[in-house]
Amino acid sequence: CIGTGNGTDAIWITLKNLGIGPGDEVITAANTFIATSESISMVGATPVFADVDPYFTLDPVDLEKKITKKTRAVIAVHLFGQMADMEKISQICKDHDLLLIEDAAQAHLSRYKNHFPGHWGEAATYSFYPAKNLGAYGDGGCIVTNSEELDRKIRIYCNHGSPEKHLHVTEGINSRLDALQAAVLSVKLKHLESWNKQRIVAAAKYRELLSGIPQIQLPLLRPDSEHTYHLYVIAAEQRNKLQAFLKSKDIDTGIHYPVALPFMPCYTHLGYKPTDVPNSFQLQDKILSLPIFPEIISDQVFFVADTIRGFYLNY
Ligand SMILES: *Cc1c(COP(=O)(O)O)cnc(C)c1O
Repeated sequence: CIGTGNGTDAIWITLKNLGIGPGDEVITAANTFIATSESISMVGATPVFADVDPYFTLDPVDLEKKITKKTRAVIAVHLFGQMADMEKISQICKDHDLLLIEDAAQAHLSRYKNHFPGHWGEAATYSFYPAKNLGAYGDGGCIVTNSEELDRKIRIYCNHGSPEKHLHVTEGINSRLDALQAAVLSVKLKHLESWNKQRIVAAAKYRELLSGIPQIQLPLLRPDSEHTYHLYVIAAEQRNKLQAFLKSKDIDTGIHYPVALPFMPCYTHLGYKPTDVPNSFQLQDKILSLPIFPEIISDQVFFVADTIRGFYLNY
């Protein structure tokens, strides 16, 4: 585990040290935070967007369709706290000789088939931005890998290419996990598992209270996996009206993300059409992130669920 300045650095530093650069294509999910694709551009490669599956993560079927002769790597994103279909994705990467990186910024201690992020890929990257399940008091990030060679390269790269004082074997950069943030994180790390459990309890309560409302779809759980509910995202009919109604009752919600990356102004030059990533496109108008955090109490979950139920009864 190598500390970095933030979660975005963690991704592009990994790509860079895996030898990804100009002329290469890297495939990632159309619905993710822009840090994932920015990192691809940062090393001079081209981001290619594949669609998401009903679990909101990289769809293995569409991933395979988007592979070209230039594809060198895949970044699977464990979005909202649930891991992508790593068994299928890693098999596809093996079959096509592609490097696999896991963006685990939203998946601290999430599991798939009893493995944490980093098991299937060359490396997994984390963010410790304050809002994440494990957050510092400012920016921070890290890279985990099972490869000793990659570990050594990255460690040197992040510290000015310097394996020892006054020796620079390569030109590197300064991206270190700040010592004060590390101190905060080492205290908070001890609580991460119990905080995740509290999120899981709140999510189970939402599931119980919101089931049977035909206008909303609850988060789909991948078999054999542990969702850590960085976000509790439903797909809702009349999403904007529901969001405004909740706001009128002092319930704040979010949308992650209102515009899928291929349709952002910064990527119009890539020329994506809605039919290239149909699920991601349709989700833009449906997804809604309900309040979830370790300290949420069941009365609050009840109030949110009751308000949603009331909205659809009277609509
Ligand atoms: C937060 C986040 C990042 C980037 O993390 P920073 O620490 O803010 O740079 C990367 N990917 C995803 C999916 C994220 O949610």
